[in-house]
Amino acid sequence: QKTHKVTLIPGDGIGPEVSNAVVRILEASGVKFDWESYAAGAEAFEKYKEYIPKELYESIERNKVALKGPVTTPIGGGFSSINVTLRKKFELFANFRPIKNLPGLETRYPGVDLIIIRENTEGLYVGLEHEVVPGVVEALKIVTEKASTRIAKFAFEYARKHGRKKVHAIHKANIMKMSDGLFIRCSKNVSKDFPEITYGEHIVDNTCMQLVTNPYQYDVLLLENLYGDIVSDLCAAFVGGLGLVPGANLGHEAAIFEAVHGSAPDIAGKDIANPTALLQSAVLMLRHLDEEAAADRIQAAIEKVYTEKKTLTRDVHGTAGTTAFADAVIAAL
Ligand code: NAD
Ligand code: MN
Repeated sequence: QKTHKVTLIPGDGIGPEVSNAVVRILEASGVKFDWESYAAGAEAFEKYKEYIPKELYESIERNKVALKGPVTTPIGGGFSSINVTLRKKFELFANFRPIKNLPGLETRYPGVDLIIIRENTEGLYVGLEHEVVPGVVEALKIVTEKASTRIAKFAFEYARKHGRKKVHAIHKANIMKMSDGLFIRCSKNVSKDFPEITYGEHIVDNTCMQLVTNPYQYDVLLLENLYGDIVSDLCAAFVGGLGLVPGANLGHEAAIFEAVHGSAPDIAGKDIANPTALLQSAVLMLRHLDEEAAADRIQAAIEKVYTEKKTLTRDVHGTAGTTAFADAVIAAL
């Protein structure tokens, strides 16, 4: 049996609690892991005087797979986002976020099954901001043909491989005529090679309204960085909230699996966070590692716990803590 070397970034806030729960469940699945665990962000700075220690970069370079908890990013000043930095450094150009209802969990929109594909390396997230004169700040939105075509191909190839019927490119090209204009031009060009998939273009503000009115009209959503970030949190509400939605940052060389949610300082340290989002990210990681059987087993165990409704966390109207939920998943395994 293969032992998988995986870089683990527990993160901060609720990160250590949910990571610990997920690692326990993964260990109980029978798959063998050799974890290389590293701090990142403020915690790493205290220890190494670096926000992302060199050892962490080297570990991801070696292992090519990481499981990552959320890391707090200071607002306003401070250091730049660890997430954005890692995504850029390893060219993790595709942020893949499946929005799927868990059987057993009642929501306002039963059966929602959307795929969000977010461009992960450019747009406004390049973080090129400067004060032109006092009181005037300029932020640069970078959009390239190369990155836009690459993410569109990823979306259409995913759709083809998984029998998805529609891809919508989401934009604001009525206002950002050149930048978003280029993004949708590239999406449309790529769509021509996928005649079996319906291609649409929707303006982002209208998309938000359309999503809340009828999320079933969409299938795969293809978005640039900022819109993808915002629309992901909106769509998380369809399936029970941020405690549920997994994600994968994918590139040609490496992959980092992490939940959509952040470090949730409002509930950190209380053993009440829902580890399902990171756990479902770990299920995506198992599939990436060709551990399909273990992935299916864990997914079935999650669904059993949600269907039984006895040991759910507070965000999904239960009373159980993080640890108790993880124990229930392990028992179901
Ligand atoms: P957040 O996602 O941390 O929290 C938003 C809301 O959702 C909060 O009410 C929180 O309690 C709840 N929530 C989130 N995850 C949950 C879970 N697993 N179980 C139950 N409830 C959960 O967003 P925020 O408060 O805007 O951001 C907090 C910090 O996280 C910021 O510093 C932000 O920069 C950072 N962040 C990091 C990442 C990442 O590391 N990938 C992603 C997003 C935000
Ligand atoms: Mn976000």
